[in-house]
Amino acid sequence: MGLSVFNTLSRSVEPFVPLDPEGEKVGLYCCGPTVHDFAHIGNFRTFVFADIVRRYLDFKGFKVRHVMNITDVEDKIIRRVNESNKSLKEYTSKYEEAFFNDLEALGCLMPDDRPHATKFIGPIIELIKKLEERGIAYRTNDGSVYFSIENYRKGGNCYGQLLNLNLDEMRPGERVSSDEYEKESIADFALWKSRVTEDGEVFWNSPWGEGRPGWHIECSAMSMELLGPSFDLHLGGEDLVFPHHEDEIAQSEGACLQCDGQKFVKYWMHGSHLLVEGKKMSKSLGNFFTLRDLLAKGFAGREVRYLMISAHYRETFNFTLDNLGGAKTALGRIDECTSKLRELSAGKIASPDNDSKLVTGFIKAMDDDLNVSAAWAAVFDWVRNTNRQLAAEGIDNNTAAIELANWDQINKVLGIQIAEQKPPSEILALAEERQAARKNKDFARSDQIRDELSAKGWTIEDTPKGPRVKRA
Ligand code: AMP
Ligand code: ZN
Repeated sequence: MGLSVFNTLSRSVEPFVPLDPEGEKVGLYCCGPTVHDFAHIGNFRTFVFADIVRRYLDFKGFKVRHVMNITDVEDKIIRRVNESNKSLKEYTSKYEEAFFNDLEALGCLMPDDRPHATKFIGPIIELIKKLEERGIAYRTNDGSVYFSIENYRKGGNCYGQLLNLNLDEMRPGERVSSDEYEKESIADFALWKSRVTEDGEVFWNSPWGEGRPGWHIECSAMSMELLGPSFDLHLGGEDLVFPHHEDEIAQSEGACLQCDGQKFVKYWMHGSHLLVEGKKMSKSLGNFFTLRDLLAKGFAGREVRYLMISAHYRETFNFTLDNLGGAKTALGRIDECTSKLRELSAGKIASPDNDSKLVTGFIKAMDDDLNVSAAWAAVFDWVRNTNRQLAAEGIDNNTAAIELANWDQINKVLGIQIAEQKPPSEILALAEERQAARKNKDFARSDQIRDELSAKGWTIEDTPKGPRVKRA
C-alpha cells in the first residue's frame, strides 16, 4: 500500500501520486511565518507537521523540494515597523533569525528554499500584469489593483474550491483591502496596495505607481516561481484555507499558466490548530507560549516536538504543561531502550530489517494519512517487547544492532534527537588514558585508543576546553 493523504480539495483521503511522470520528484510548499513577532507554539505545530510530511516523503524515496516562504511584508508587519521606527529589514530580521533557531531546536529539517516576499517583487508584478491582461485584475482610482472574482468566474473558473462558499451573497465589485478577512466577506481582494502615509518607507515602484503587494499574491508568485505553475503539495494551518489559499488558487489559475487540465496544486493539506488548556492562545488569557518561553521553563525542544507529533495533524491539539511533562517521560522510555541497545550492539552497524514489526507497523500507520497515533503505538509496542526480551533472555550484539537500525530508520521521520548521553566509566577511563598518552607524546597509543573508542561507538573531539567524548 502506498501513501494516501487527505486532500482539502476533494475533502477525502486520496492516494498520493506525484505530478512527475517518473513518480520521483515532489514539489512541496508550506506557507511560512509572518515575521512580525516571535512565532508561537501554534505556528510551530504547523511547521512541525510540514517537517513530518517532508521527512515521510523523503523516507518513501521521493525527491522532495521543500519551499517555505518568509512573509516579510504585509499589513501587520507594516504596522509594527511604524511603531518601532526601524527599517523593514532591521525589524523583520530579528524575528526571522529567532524563527530559524526555534525551528532547529524543534528538530525540523531546513526547507530547501526559504524565499522572502520582498525579494520576489519582480515576479509578483509580472503575475499581477498577467491577471490584468486577462481582465481579472482592475485598477482603482487610488492606484491599487484588485482581483475581480466576478470576471474570474465568468472565465469559467471556480472560486470556492477549498471551501463551499455562498457566492449568491456576493456583491460583485465589493472590495477588501485587508490581507486577512472573514469567511463572510467574499469580496475582491487587493493584489497591489498603493502607497499610503502609514506605509512609511515600505514601498516599491510598479506600473501602477508606488505601493506594495497584497499577502496572497506573494505566495502565488513565490511558489510558482520556484516549483512551477503546477506542483504537488501545498500545506498550511487550517485558518489559511480561506481566504489565503482560496485566493492563491484564484490568482494562480486565473493567470492561466498551467498546462491543460492541470491545477495549480494537486494536494492541499491543512493542519488543525493547537489550543492551550482548551482555549485559543491569547496574551490576555496568559496562555500564550513561544518556544523560548517553554525552553526557559526547562523543557527541551525534542519534548515539545514529541508532543506536537503525538496527535494526528487533522485533530485539534490541546497543549498543556502537564502533557509536556508526560512527553519527557515517554521520551525517557525510548532513550532508555535505545541506549541499552546501543550498549549491547557495541559499535556494530547493521542494516535495518524492513520486514520487522516496528518498521512495517510504522509504515502502515504513516501511509494512512500520516496516522502518527498508530505509528507511536508501534513504537511503544516495540519498546515494551524489547525491554521484555532484554529482561528475559537478553539480546546479542547482532540483534541489538538491527533493532537499533530499525529505530534509526523510523526516527529519520520522527526526528526525535537522541538525548545527550553521559559516557560510561569504562569509556571515560579510556579517554583519560588517551589524554595521558598524548601528554607523554605516545601518539601510537593515543591513536590506538581512539580506534578502540570508535569500535565501541564513541568519538573524541579535541576542543579548546579539552577533549570531549561523544557518541559516534
Ligand atoms: P502566520 O505567521 O500567522 O502567518 O502563521 C504561520 C502558520 O501558523 C500558518 O500556517 C498558520 O495557519 C499557522 N497557525 C497559526 N495559529 C496556529 C495555531 N494556533 N495552531 C496551529 N497552527 C497555527
Ligand atoms: Zn501563503
